[in-house]
Amino acid sequence: MTPREVLALCREREIQAVDLRFMDFPGTQKHFTIPAKILAEKSFEDGFGFDGSSMRGWKAINESDMLVVPQPDTAFVDPFMSNTLVMTCNIQDPITREDYAKDPRNVARKAESYMRSTKIADVANFGPEAEFFIFDDVRFDQNEHECYYHVDSIEGQWNRGKAGSTQNAGYKIRHKEGYFPVPPADTLQEARTEMMLALMECGVDVEAQHHEVATGGQCEIDMKYAPLLKTADNLLRYKYIVKNVAVRHGKTATFMPKPLWNDNGSGLHLHMSLWKDGKPLFAGSRYGGLSEMGMYAMGGILKHAPALFAFCCPTTNSYKRLIAGFEAPINLTYSYRNRSAAIRIPVHSPHPENKRFEFRCPDSSSNPYLAMSAVLMAMLDGIQNKIDPGHPLEKDIYDLKPDELAELPSVPDSLEHALQALRDDHKFLLTGDVFTEDVIDTWIWYKTNQEVAALRERPHPYEFAMYYDI
Ligand code: GLU
Ligand code: MG
Ligand code: MG
Repeated sequence: MTPREVLALCREREIQAVDLRFMDFPGTQKHFTIPAKILAEKSFEDGFGFDGSSMRGWKAINESDMLVVPQPDTAFVDPFMSNTLVMTCNIQDPITREDYAKDPRNVARKAESYMRSTKIADVANFGPEAEFFIFDDVRFDQNEHECYYHVDSIEGQWNRGKAGSTQNAGYKIRHKEGYFPVPPADTLQEARTEMMLALMECGVDVEAQHHEVATGGQCEIDMKYAPLLKTADNLLRYKYIVKNVAVRHGKTATFMPKPLWNDNGSGLHLHMSLWKDGKPLFAGSRYGGLSEMGMYAMGGILKHAPALFAFCCPTTNSYKRLIAGFEAPINLTYSYRNRSAAIRIPVHSPHPENKRFEFRCPDSSSNPYLAMSAVLMAMLDGIQNKIDPGHPLEKDIYDLKPDELAELPSVPDSLEHALQALRDDHKFLLTGDVFTEDVIDTWIWYKTNQEVAALRERPHPYEFAMYYDI
């Protein structure tokens, strides 16, 4: 859509409010709204001012003025608010008019243009599977940073009993048995269909929606693959629609990776392929039907994986998901079909345009612009430096004997260790000025101080279970 087409759409749909959105640094969507009559063709050049110093990890107070510049090709009519058009924005400095280095969308744009400059590929397609939970009732106070857990809650009982939409436990889905039961066991069918239709109405192609493996409440809606920037923009819409439909059903949706102990967590699997001149580059005759380029791309991901985790699994909760027995990857290996490996090469289709591999480690607590850019940079590094991914693993990793397991490189066991890996290995992200030292330093600083240290200082509910009567 061009600016002119956006203005025509505003007239046609009687739009009265234009909602300007962007992604903050850690990965939360922000917005402010202008009256539609203010929007003119020049707005798409001039942008609108806001205070960048109030954004986590951005500008200092003495240099706080910044601009949002609406992107016409991201416009959609808000399905929840009356007569409102939404647009995603780029962030610029109002004086130099430079794109802001710590705008995650800018990092993603630079990653795509760096990829084109290498001549390796002109499109990186990402198909995301963003899993989430819907809960009836969650009892904690975010402002006080206190959790009002009952002792029963300590092992997830508090929300397990209330997940889904029924108080009657007659058809309650057992642990790890949530995959595909029809209603009434699946109490969220209607809500998910509403989400699916709203996504489509907002221009996001959907392939399927279903209940996921965990007990009542875990869901997945699969979007069709699209280029990196578009996929990240789509994920913003996805979270917005999922959360708003859930609230309209009197519930809340969460993308936190491991809300329940002892059941599956929620991942953001990424299915990826590179393309050039309309041709897929990952189809070939090597392992699992991959091309040599596909093998090297996997090599790049596996080599840089510990550092990638700092962006792909960027919360303290992420590491509670990455344990054995819950379909989440625990070792840095690749495999044809095998869901217990960090990278899986799906077999479904003989068509070269469907050839891809699935990186199973990321979760939706990540900032999708930064996570997918980091993964693309690792793939390009693997291809440029012909990084061998090593041998595939055919067995179920969860069943390996301890000595076999000890030989496999494992995923980092904590956010702290992932941040350390990023500190030690981030040159591949700086190529082409895609990530800057400032972006890396701010990320490590923010995550270390605002999340790792913040959690370490607080008594945990499970400590009460272990120690209260000591
Ligand atoms: N929920 C699992 C995870 O944490 C994945 C299940 C699946 O294969 O879809 O990654
Ligand atoms: Mg899934
Ligand atoms: Mg998957």
